[in-house]
Amino acid sequence: LFASECTFFFGSQTLDQLPPPGVAEIAFAGRSNVGKSSLINAMTGRNRLARASSEPGRTKQLNFFNLGDRLTLVDMPGYGFAKAAKAVKEDWQNMMFTYLRGRTVLQRVLLLLDARIELKPSDRDVMELLDKAAVVFQVVLTKCDALKPGRLDAKRREVEAEMARHPAAYPHLVLTSSETGMGIDTLRAEMARLVEM
Ligand code: GDP
Repeated sequence: LFASECTFFFGSQTLDQLPPPGVAEIAFAGRSNVGKSSLINAMTGRNRLARASSEPGRTKQLNFFNLGDRLTLVDMPGYGFAKAAKAVKEDWQNMMFTYLRGRTVLQRVLLLLDARIELKPSDRDVMELLDKAAVVFQVVLTKCDALKPGRLDAKRREVEAEMARHPAAYPHLVLTSSETGMGIDTLRAEMARLVEM
């Protein structure tokens, strides 16, 4: 699956222009700067596939990528800008909830958390949104290369305790690093399994 070419095919700024539902979809979500573009690029073996758009206020869109005509990867706009106005946050939540609830081909959301940063209220809000939308989400810790083993272990326990509070959380946490390649094969294997289901 991941030997196939991965190509951008659709960007949607409003929900009335989503691409028609086709093959299975996996969406990537996380706070801005979590390492989402880097992870998508590492998984698909491409450079600059997903452009980082990490400025507050910049137009956010859902970006759709085709992987071998068998899987669609969806890059969700980053959330959690410290300076974002309340209205912007509410817009994001409303748009994401509408997408998540209504997208029948969506198999799973990969929710990225930066291993170096403590869980933020915005992360918990998104987990609750996913619970409400009844979309299975799998937590992926990013930048694990930046932590010593002991700290990484503590982080894992903290995140697993949070996952236990969310009915939509998939029980298996994945530790990754786009720098070292840690966890990338695990994620690819999981995606391939979803496609074969
Ligand atoms: P995005 O805004 O979520 O798409 O994040 P980016 O992929 O643009 O990455 C944000 C920052 O984190 C950049 O400075 C990256 O170099 C850094 N970063 C991304 N992945 C890793 C990683 O695996 N390890 C480390 N140490 N830094 C990373």
